[in-house]
Amino acid sequence: MKTVEQILSGFSAAGDAVKDRLASNFAAKADPDIHRLPIIYPATAEQVTELREDCPAEVDAAVTRARAAFASGSWPRYPVSKRQEILRNAAKLIRQHQDELATLETLCVGLPVSHLTDRQIPRAAENFDIFADYIGTMAGEIFEQEPGYLTLVTREPAGVAALIAPWNAPLALSSMQIASCIAFGNTCVSKPSEFTPLAVSRMVELLLEAGLPAGVVNGVNGRGSVTGSALVSNPGIDRIAFTGSRATARSIMKAASANLTPVHMELGGKSANIVFNDANLERAIDGSLINIFSNNGQMCIAGSRILVQRGIADRFIGHFVERTKNIRVGDPMDPATEIGPLAFAAQLEKVLAYVELARVEGAEILAGGNRIESLAPGYFVEPAVALVDSNALRICQEEIFGPFATIQVFDEPEEAVAIANDSEYGLVGYAWTENLQLGLKMQESIRAGTVWINTPVLRDLRAPFGGYKNSGIGRDGPRQCADFYTEEKATIVPRTPSPLKKMGQAQ
Ligand code: NAD
Repeated sequence: MKTVEQILSGFSAAGDAVKDRLASNFAAKADPDIHRLPIIYPATAEQVTELREDCPAEVDAAVTRARAAFASGSWPRYPVSKRQEILRNAAKLIRQHQDELATLETLCVGLPVSHLTDRQIPRAAENFDIFADYIGTMAGEIFEQEPGYLTLVTREPAGVAALIAPWNAPLALSSMQIASCIAFGNTCVSKPSEFTPLAVSRMVELLLEAGLPAGVVNGVNGRGSVTGSALVSNPGIDRIAFTGSRATARSIMKAASANLTPVHMELGGKSANIVFNDANLERAIDGSLINIFSNNGQMCIAGSRILVQRGIADRFIGHFVERTKNIRVGDPMDPATEIGPLAFAAQLEKVLAYVELARVEGAEILAGGNRIESLAPGYFVEPAVALVDSNALRICQEEIFGPFATIQVFDEPEEAVAIANDSEYGLVGYAWTENLQLGLKMQESIRAGTVWINTPVLRDLRAPFGGYKNSGIGRDGPRQCADFYTEEKATIVPRTPSPLKKMGQAQ
């Protein structure tokens, strides 16, 4: 396992940049009143650095900077072509710095660098390109039905947004929040998770380099209970976009209610992955493994409840379990690694506790579920599979957010739909069948914001993404974000002066 020192010295150019960053801007000042946030590399449990937490007064200052950039700065007034150019520059710079960004991200989250450079960092860049493209296609509306009048509908940026992101895919998620907010001329204060701020902070610097005026994107760092809560309750905030857990979403909504601030929420999931008798078995196995074990299961869209029809169940389960046992868990810096460590110690404890709960609830553990002692003190766990006979178990209802799949056997499609929908969440669903009608029936019946049929996760960023039920409020997506991040304004103009009633005129 590579140590932090070896990782940094192994990356020539990027390594120097990363080292400089860790040594200077990020490091905590020697002030005893400042709360320090350790960043721990999850593969070795070494401390990478210590960051200072932004206190409520610093959050207030960040909101004031964002407000000034909105009220009197150039960004909201730039022509669309100039905003497009800067967003595209940002995308280019993210691609150019992908090694440095991947190193910073891995040091916080432990995701394999190959996964970051293949998928998440290109996706972060694409988020800026997609919104640059979209704002070039926007048009207002004109209503002409009222005789003699034109009614124009235009959009204006909403103002200053608070953007709060989780730790599981920091760059991919923060970049979506930032791009979707600033593309429409808004300014923002962005708070990444206190566990994983390094790559996001670096991206914010790259945005300045891309030409974004100062004050448009302001980063703050700290715990949710301190920095996050000061941000969402600040009366200077016009919009709150939050990605994270539903428990936090509830407290943010409470804070938002004091100022009647509109919220956009991307929350958790406990999604069904349904495999029918007539599925292409090989593809269904490949896809189901990807759906639960990518990102070490630490993803909102995890297909964590696998439902398999009885006729194919023995073969599916046999192969799925064998392949799970063969997954290469190890050094995130090794390109051959498929799964790295869990992101932090509490996350490891949480997953192990759910394995224990599975036993208590009577589930049969078919694979994994143990800490990998040979890789300790890193937070590594064997990917786990549990066979269950009821969807009522807590392990089928609660979001584990780790490499833990449950498998339940069903007989009829209606039963699969009922189990899939028997959840407080409704983020996504997956179905595997060669029968077109059955696939379409699933598309219609699964109560979730996205349904994938015969494919693992593939996102077209132009399409909406978000959840039913406790999985969220609102949708990501260009048109949907235009609605959230702009105010629509109707303007009424007579084509020719129209006769007006003369109030107050002498009779
Ligand atoms: P979390 O709710 O604990 O934290 C998310 C963010 O909120 C962090 O930045 C945290 O510091 C901040 N926060 C915590 N308390 C706060 C408060 N009172 N006020 C303001 N901010 C506060 O979530 P997490 O553990 O970081 O992330 C995992 C969760 O995120 C899972 O439920 C997962 O499904 C969800 N998630 C959803 C999506 C999606 O797009 N739907 C994507 C990724 C993750």
